[in-house]
Amino acid sequence: MKIETLAVHAGREPDPATGALREPIHLSTTFERNADGSYPHGHYYTRAGNPNRSSLERAIAALEGGADAVAFASGSAATLAAFSLAAPGGRVVCSSDCYHGTAKQLRELLPKWGLGAEFVDTTDPGAVARALESPTAMLWIETPSNPLLRVSDIAALAALALARGALVACDNTFASPILQQPFTLGADLVMHSTTKYLGGHSDVLGGVLVVRERGSMLDRLREFQATAGGVPSPFDCWLVLRSLATLPLRVRAQSANAAAVAQFLSQDRRVERVYYPGLVDHTGHALAARQMSGGFGAVLSFQVPGGANEAMLVAARAKIFTRATSLGGVESLVEHRASMEGPLSRTPQNLLRVAIGLEAASDLIADLDVALGA
Ligand SMILES: *Cc1c(COP(=O)(O)O)cnc(C)c1O
Repeated sequence: MKIETLAVHAGREPDPATGALREPIHLSTTFERNADGSYPHGHYYTRAGNPNRSSLERAIAALEGGADAVAFASGSAATLAAFSLAAPGGRVVCSSDCYHGTAKQLRELLPKWGLGAEFVDTTDPGAVARALESPTAMLWIETPSNPLLRVSDIAALAALALARGALVACDNTFASPILQQPFTLGADLVMHSTTKYLGGHSDVLGGVLVVRERGSMLDRLREFQATAGGVPSPFDCWLVLRSLATLPLRVRAQSANAAAVAQFLSQDRRVERVYYPGLVDHTGHALAARQMSGGFGAVLSFQVPGGANEAMLVAARAKIFTRATSLGGVESLVEHRASMEGPLSRTPQNLLRVAIGLEAASDLIADLDVALGA
C-alpha cells in the first residue's frame, strides 16, 4: 500500500463498541480482568499499554515500514530509551551536528549510567569507520541534521556499523517517513520527535521509536517504556494519530515552500550563506537527492552578515514568521539558534534557523525580504 493510504488508514478502525469512525479517547487508567485472570483486550494498566497508544504505534510503524513502534511522552524520552539499549557500559557514536538535547543526554546524563559517547562528523564515512574501530553499541545518525542540515549517507554508515556489530539508529524527525525511509537503507531503529511533523500543529509533545524487526530489542524498549513510564497521554496519542492523515500533504507542501524560500535567500546579497539540502550547491545535495524522495524537508538555516545582534534584528522584523523554537507545525517559525542552544553551542552567532509552514511561499518570501532590511 502507498504511504498516502497508510497515513489515512493505518491504526484507524471504527470503534467496535459504538461504530464511531474515530477511536474514542480512552482515559481509563485500568482495564478489567477476566475471572480467570486474563485480560480480554490485552490492556491492563495504561502506563504499560493503552488503546490510543497502540493505534498510534501501529500507524507510525506502518508509515516507516517497521515491525512495531514504541511511543513516548517526548522525542527526548524516546532518545533516552534508545540509548538504554547501549547500557550497560556501551559506547554510542553520534553525529556531531545533532539536536542539542541528544548531545546533552550523551554528554551529561549517560556517563552516569556508564555509557561513553563519541561525536563524529557522520557526513564523513572515513571518520565514522575510525570511530567504529573501538567497540560500539550504537551508531546514532541524524540526517538532515540540526541546525546545519548536513546530510549523512545512511546506507554507507549502516554497512560500516553492521560489520562492527553496532546498532544503527536514525533520528528521522527532520525528513519524516514521507521523505526518507531509514529501514530501506539499513537502519535498525528509527526515532521521531512526534512534536514536529508527525504532530504537525505545534500542540502536542511526543516521541517514538520504530523497530525494523520484532525481537529482543523491541522487548527491551517495551520494558523500558512501561518501567521508566515516560509515556504519552491518550489524548496526545489521539492528536498525533489524527495528524498523520495529512502528513504526506503537509510535508510535501512545506518542503516545496522551503525550496522556494531557500532559492530566494541563496540569490540575495543580504544573505551570507544558506543551508538547505535542496540547493544544488549544498555539499550534501547529491546524496540527499539519492537518499530522500519527494522533497528535501522544510527546515533551513541561513547566516546574515554580522553577529548575533544583526541576526536577531532580522528575526525581529519578520511579521509572518513567529520568533519561536521548534519546527514541523503548519506555521513558519524563525529562531536565533545559538542563543536557544545555550553557552556550549557551536552554532554560528549570525545564523537563523527557519521552519517553513503551509503559508503561501510568496508571502513568506515577501516577509523575509522586508526582514532582511535595506
Ligand atoms: C525536537 C527534536 C528532538 C527532541 O524532541 P522533543 O519532542 O522536543 O523532546 C530530537 N531530535 C530532533 C531532530 C528534534 O528536532
